[in-house]
This record gives sequence, structure tokens and C-alpha cells, in this order.
Amino acid sequence: MSLYILPKERLPGFVDNLRAGFRVVGPVRTETGYAFADIRSADELVLEYPTTILPPKKYLLPQRETLFTFRTGNAEDGTQQIEVEPVFQDVQPTVIFGVHTCDMHGIVLYDKVFSQGYKDEHYCARREQTYIIGIECLRPCDDASFCKDMGTLTAPPVYDLHMTAVDDNYLIDTGTEKGERLLLANVEAHLATTDDIRRLSQTLSAKWPHFRHRLKMTKDQIPSLMAINYGSHIWDTLGERCLACGSCTNVCPTCFCFDVQDEMALNMEEGERTRIWDSCQLREFALVAGGHNFRGSKASRVRHRMMRKGKYIQQVHGITGCTGCGRCQRACLVDITIPGTLNALYDEMQIDLSSATGA
Ligand code: SF4
Ligand code: SF4
Repeated sequence: MSLYILPKERLPGFVDNLRAGFRVVGPVRTETGYAFADIRSADELVLEYPTTILPPKKYLLPQRETLFTFRTGNAEDGTQQIEVEPVFQDVQPTVIFGVHTCDMHGIVLYDKVFSQGYKDEHYCARREQTYIIGIECLRPCDDASFCKDMGTLTAPPVYDLHMTAVDDNYLIDTGTEKGERLLLANVEAHLATTDDIRRLSQTLSAKWPHFRHRLKMTKDQIPSLMAINYGSHIWDTLGERCLACGSCTNVCPTCFCFDVQDEMALNMEEGERTRIWDSCQLREFALVAGGHNFRGSKASRVRHRMMRKGKYIQQVHGITGCTGCGRCQRACLVDITIPGTLNALYDEMQIDLSSATGA
């Protein structure tokens, strides 16, 4: 793939040209923070944003979507029939502009989850029409970020275009051929020179000291830490604090659990099947037939979320279940955080070890 240089002054023209053929979404300023939203004019797009309330997953897995409609009735011979019509909502050529590297890692996970094994046609239909334009993070979003610990501070190969601000220009890496075509068809950009590449390299090297480590262990140690601490008393402590509100999972770029509901029309002959985001932190999530709840306590639900982030997803999909974006920390009213929990488990192990050795 190639590296292009685009003067920053040409960005508005690029965005406006894209809008002629695509739904363009990207980070905008709102009263409550930054959020991914439809870009109606290029000056709404804010590329130097700290983080957004929700990650861009909402464009790939909407909060609520109709999967199919159905109609029941009787055939001429009296047998009952049901007609089913698939529905593909929000499937349109879309450019997601300004995706941070951590959120790209979230999309890598989503692509695996929804396209491997049982293929989710609805997700894949939207994904095939989606272009990802990333923006390199040169500063941490805020103190809640721990992307450096989780190895998500560099872009994974999921982007079509990836931009890095260098002085008055963007250096744009083309990750796919369709991304390169998208760029060249919509703005005048030139191949980067050796000097541009040197300045890009300097910019990328200079960013690392601005990001700090928050974890006391390495990313690779986390799955074992979780396994050893399955029976820790820390889960009870966190369970007592947790409000079971589900905010942490809603804002998470790697949470993908959903509920499926059938809704009948008043005529009781037709209806639709919808799926909506769900949260393992809600009491009803594990409620099954007969009234049994296999994760009835908040302690067991907090543990389950932490286990997914630190161990289960890594085991099943081979990639991190937490991008270190920090959104769950910002959303949690009782300050239950991933670094706080992992560090507490780690400290607990040091205490156990020292009492066992008499140190
Ligand atoms: S668990 Fe928290 S920090 Fe990790 S990806 Fe989800 S929201 Fe971000
Ligand atoms: S946001 Fe905090 S209080 Fe709410 S469910 Fe998550 S951990 Fe519990």
C-alpha cells in the first residue's frame, strides 16, 4: 500500500466530496462530550478529539435493529403458515471518519465475532459497505486511557485509510485498494516523499512518552491472573459497589451481547424480530426458564465481565478483549475500573505470595 500527503486545508473538501456519495459519520462536539454522528458539513468533524461517549460500533451493530418481519395465517388447506421477510437496516455506503486506534482494535474483534463460524448476515452486509478512516492518537484521551498497556496504541490492519497529523499535513496510509481509490477519487493527494516519511517516523516516535502505563502486569499475564483469581474475595467487594446499571458494557467497543425479541402487531398476525444491545451486568441477563438465574449476584456478574475482558475473549478469538479505551471507567458511577481491578488482583497475589514465603 502507499503513503500520501494531504495538506490539512484540503480536508474539508475531501469530506464534502465524500458526502456526495456516502453517509459520512465521525466525531462531533456535543453538549455532553464528543460523539460519533452524521457529518452534515465538513466543519462539524473534529479530528483532534479526546474520546467519544460510544465507540463507532453503533454503525456496525445498531442499538436496535429489525432482523426480519413475519406474518402468520392459514393456507387454503387449513394448515398454519408463516412468511418471513429479512430486513437489512442501515445498509448503505458509509465512511466512518476519525477512528482511534483502540476503536479499530474493537472493530477487528467484531469482524471476527460476526463473520467467523456462524456468519451474521446483517453485520456483514453493513461491514462490506463501510470504509474505516483512522486517525493516529498522538496524545492519550485522558487519565482513564490505558491503551499503551493493552497494545492498542498502534493501528491494526483493519483500516482503509489511516491519517497522522504532521505539521500542516496529514500523512495518509492506504490500508486497502478500495481505500486508496476512495482517497484519490475525492481529493488531490500526492505520494509522500522520503522527507515526509522521515517526519512521520519522528512524529510516531515522539508520541510514546506521552502515554503512561497503568497496569502493574503485562497484557500477556492478564489471562493467567484472571484464572488464578476466579475465587478471589475482590469480586464480592466489587459486587457490593456495583449498581448493575449496564453503562460499562454499553459504552464498550468489545461488548457485543444482544437480546432478541419478537414483537407482535395488535392484529396478532404480523410482527417483527428485533435485536437490541444487552448487558451481562443486568440481573435479567442470566434469568432462564423456571426463574433460575445462573448469575444472580452482582459479584458473579462483575466477575464475568472482567473474565471476558481479561481472559475469555482472548482464549476464544486470540485477541484482547479490552482495548484500554477507558470508556467503562468514565461511565461507571462507582469507579469500578479495569486497571483498578487488575491491579487489586495483582496486589492480592503479591500479599499471598509474601505470606506463603514469610517475606
Ligand atoms: S472494558 Fe472498558 S477499557 Fe476495556 S475496551 Fe471495554 S470500555 Fe474500553
Ligand atoms: S457501570 Fe459500574 S455500576 Fe454500572 S454495571 Fe458497570 S461496573 Fe456496575
